[in-house]
Amino acid sequence: MAADLTADTELTAGGPGGADVDAYRQRVRAFIAERGLPMDREGVRVPESAAQERQIRDWLRALYEAGYLGAGWPVEWGGQAGHLPVHDLVVMEELIRGDAYRPLDQVMLAAHAVIAFGSDEQKRELLPRIRAGEHIWCQLFSEPGAGSDLAALRTRAEPDAAGETFTVTGQKIWSTDAQWSDMGLLLARTDPTAERHAGITAFVVPMGLPGVDVRPIREMTGHAEFCEVFLDGLQLGRQHVLGEVNGGWKVVTSGLASERAFVGANAIQLERLFQDLVALARTARLPDGTPALAHEDIQAKLAAALTRVEEVRLIVRDTVERILVEAEHPSDGPVAKLAYTETNVALSELALEIIASAVSIDDDGAQVADRWQHNFLWGRALTISGGASEIMRGLIGRQLLGLPRA
Ligand SMILES: Cc1cc2nc3c(=O)[nH]c(=O)nc-3n(C[C@H](O)[C@H](O)[C@H](O)COP(=O)(O)OP(=O)(O)OC[C@H]3O[C@@H](n4cnc5c(N)ncnc54)[C@H](O)[C@@H]3O)c2cc1C
Repeated sequence: MAADLTADTELTAGGPGGADVDAYRQRVRAFIAERGLPMDREGVRVPESAAQERQIRDWLRALYEAGYLGAGWPVEWGGQAGHLPVHDLVVMEELIRGDAYRPLDQVMLAAHAVIAFGSDEQKRELLPRIRAGEHIWCQLFSEPGAGSDLAALRTRAEPDAAGETFTVTGQKIWSTDAQWSDMGLLLARTDPTAERHAGITAFVVPMGLPGVDVRPIREMTGHAEFCEVFLDGLQLGRQHVLGEVNGGWKVVTSGLASERAFVGANAIQLERLFQDLVALARTARLPDGTPALAHEDIQAKLAAALTRVEEVRLIVRDTVERILVEAEHPSDGPVAKLAYTETNVALSELALEIIASAVSIDDDGAQVADRWQHNFLWGRALTISGGASEIMRGLIGRQLLGLPRA
């Protein structure tokens, strides 16, 4: 049962990138072992003290300085000439394997958007601050009436007669990290008369400006990691527009590609979780005093869970291979996301079943049990963020199976 899946999972000498990848992986692994900021629970992590916030910002800066983040950026903005996309995937895998704090995907998405759509002045102003850990970003996209259907957003950015100043009014919700972000990537409607995808503009918003009111929301995990953001009379200028006025839809859709580096890492994540599941079953004692792992029904459920983990690994491996040769199918992302997030929930349900059937947990299993209780609550969020499972199924139906839109 205690299969070590890791050896044949990662991108190795036999896989894309060849021997260079192995050497690169060793360097990343050593760096993380020496300097990595530990991550003690899954999910995004809002700092709980000023000292912790400093640590997170320092760690992000260290990753950029070492060239493990932002290596794919244009060289003039700190990227590296010989950068290979496979290296980004290796970094994500090793961050997960090393239990290290992972870069915030909103910051990565913002960097991608600024590189692709920013003016030279915006790039000069914003990109070095991301690399320095000085600017944490949040995404101000979703609204109470606009999530899956983002183009339904109603926050208005009303231009003045000259089109130079915009007055922003509206409400955003589920804005991860907004309570400690320095900058927000905002989507707002600038032309309510245009076709709904066409009348939206992307803005960069300094979160300290008057007219921005951030209120954290407590999740069922007990932590408050995302927020409501009320925008009332916020004044933005031309310098805050990212890309073209009414061209915001292009900014948001192109940014999704920057999240691809996480796909491969998800398989590693599930394999680590499976090992945690076995550790839990070994230390959870049933009423007869034996460990759950000794029971045939638990063994059968673990075997079924391992099969699902293995399926995700194969799906992710195929996807990663296509990403690396830029031959992705549009449904690759939805398939990999659906498989990973739903399997994650299934593993946490099994973990809770084991915990519920136990009368005690051995001391060395207590921490694992705590992690599972958190993951049980947190894992559901992943089936919603970045596109809910139902939306992923719809995309797969249309893009992979060619089914008509219902
Ligand atoms: C952990 C987390 C972090 C997030 N971080 C951010 C962030 O930083 N910034 C940000 O802007 N947003 C963020 N979000 C919001 C996220 O993008 C939305 O929650 C998501 O897009 C779903 O939108 P919704 O919550 O409005 O649900 P809805 O779109 O109202 O969906 C409700 C339910 O209806 C289903 N449904 C909706 N439309 C269809 C359809 N066409 N077919 C079938 N079923 C459908 C959905 O699958 C879901 O089950 C975050 C969400 C989570 C959970």
